[in-house]
Amino acid sequence: MLAYTYVGKEDFRLLEKPRPHTVDDGDAVVHVTLASVCTSDLHIMHGFVPRAVPGITVGHEAVGIVESVGRNVRKVKPGDRVSINVETFCGECFFCRRGAVNNCTLPDGGWAMGCRIDGMQAEYVRVPHADCGLTVIPDGVSDKAALLAGDILATGYWAAKISDIEEGSDVLVIGAGPTGICCALCALLKNPKRVFICDIDDARLRFVQQHYPALTPLRSSETLAAVRSACRHGGADSVIEAAGSPDTFRLAWEAARPNATVTVVAMYDDAQTLPLPEMYGKNLTFRTGGVDGCDAAEILALISGGRLDVRALVTHEFPLSRADEAYALFSSRADGVMKVALDCTR
Ligand SMILES: [Zn+2]
Ligand SMILES: [Zn+2]
Repeated sequence: MLAYTYVGKEDFRLLEKPRPHTVDDGDAVVHVTLASVCTSDLHIMHGFVPRAVPGITVGHEAVGIVESVGRNVRKVKPGDRVSINVETFCGECFFCRRGAVNNCTLPDGGWAMGCRIDGMQAEYVRVPHADCGLTVIPDGVSDKAALLAGDILATGYWAAKISDIEEGSDVLVIGAGPTGICCALCALLKNPKRVFICDIDDARLRFVQQHYPALTPLRSSETLAAVRSACRHGGADSVIEAAGSPDTFRLAWEAARPNATVTVVAMYDDAQTLPLPEMYGKNLTFRTGGVDGCDAAEILALISGGRLDVRALVTHEFPLSRADEAYALFSSRADGVMKVALDCTR
């Protein structure tokens, strides 16, 4: 089968590999139909993910059809159409029982697929701990509508969940890329007063305006002043930082009101500074992550019920055989690209 592979730094290649089979009794093998390309894949490509193991198939967000299951798998059966979680986890350890599945203590727990073990940009993938890693997609939800449920929509859902958003809150999301938009759409589910979303890229702000008019787009350069004057208490009640640019961490805590919650979901290339003397007395709460991706069933139910729709984010699609082109487009940000899907059946 074809599998898009991390050969080494700046070297991803489409290789012919043997088809995977179940190894442990909790495994399933999934025939991938659609997989997506994620910024984290680019982080691996550029050598920013030291844990990534050369030789593995990349990709950690996909949907497909269950091909075979180990004898302990209860939740899914061959033929089921499923969403695959970014994380593998046991559901039973200290961290999993608290919903903190990103820190599952299994050797292959957390973000393993497409990083430390073979991932999903391939015709077939082995999914360990399949009862936790796979979720059946409701009838009526297309592959494209469900594609992001395993990773960036899971991230948005989780970020909104931990950001102390109350009814009537003012929320600021930094970064109007795919992950930021997912965070903003999930924040809307909490019935806030407003969800501001800012970016330096006007094309992305226009995209938000066109597809998600319930959000309030702002230019990054105008955000601090706009949020401070528009919000009742001098800043946003909750801030979600999803950009990861050199100055966005600073914007996140500066745009927050006193006693706000600032959630950092961005992956930075460099260390960030926490200038405690400057923020003394503001009494902020910071949360960071590492999505705990264990809410796929809730997310798919929201999609099925028409309350979450991220289909517009999947702006481009390529067959797996043209994965090089898909990556080139995604990393160039040309042609208004948000998310690129790979059709792994072709
Ligand atoms: Zn990702
Ligand atoms: Zn666990």
